[in-house]
Amino acid sequence: MSYDTNNIFAKILRGEIPCFKIYEDDYSLAFMDIMPQADGHALVIPKFAATTLLEIPADQLTHTMTTVQKVMAAQKSELGAEGVVLMQLNGEGAGQTVRHLHFHLIPAHLSQLKRHGAEQGDMEKIKALAAKIALAL
Ligand code: AMP
Repeated sequence: MSYDTNNIFAKILRGEIPCFKIYEDDYSLAFMDIMPQADGHALVIPKFAATTLLEIPADQLTHTMTTVQKVMAAQKSELGAEGVVLMQLNGEGAGQTVRHLHFHLIPAHLSQLKRHGAEQGDMEKIKALAAKIALAL
């Protein structure tokens, strides 16, 4: 999978389309998934242009995973999540739809998840959950 500079997350990184941002630093961005598989479903992406886990250098990955940790801790403290599913799809063969490396953080039990990318969520609810998670970031 080659990197497509017009993928939707590249556009979010360039500020060309909006997102419900919860955290940003020099290396990564965290924002809400608009088709949540459970309330509080967040995404963490590196600023580095990688399509899958195989294309990101280790130092960039370390920064990204540090953000994954921070967001997970915030989901636990602010949403009271008892557990968080961490999911990451590599390539169309795995069902990846957006061609920029991303980590899904879904604060729910695996058995309770809605279907992947199936239904747009309630934007007001997503916005409110974003504000709540951001309190700890
Ligand atoms: P994947 O199938 O692993 O590539 O996941 C892509 C995810 O991006 C899905 O869960 C979508 O709901 C989510 N998504 C697609 N477009 C947007 C967007 N504009 N803002 C936030 N999340 C999005």
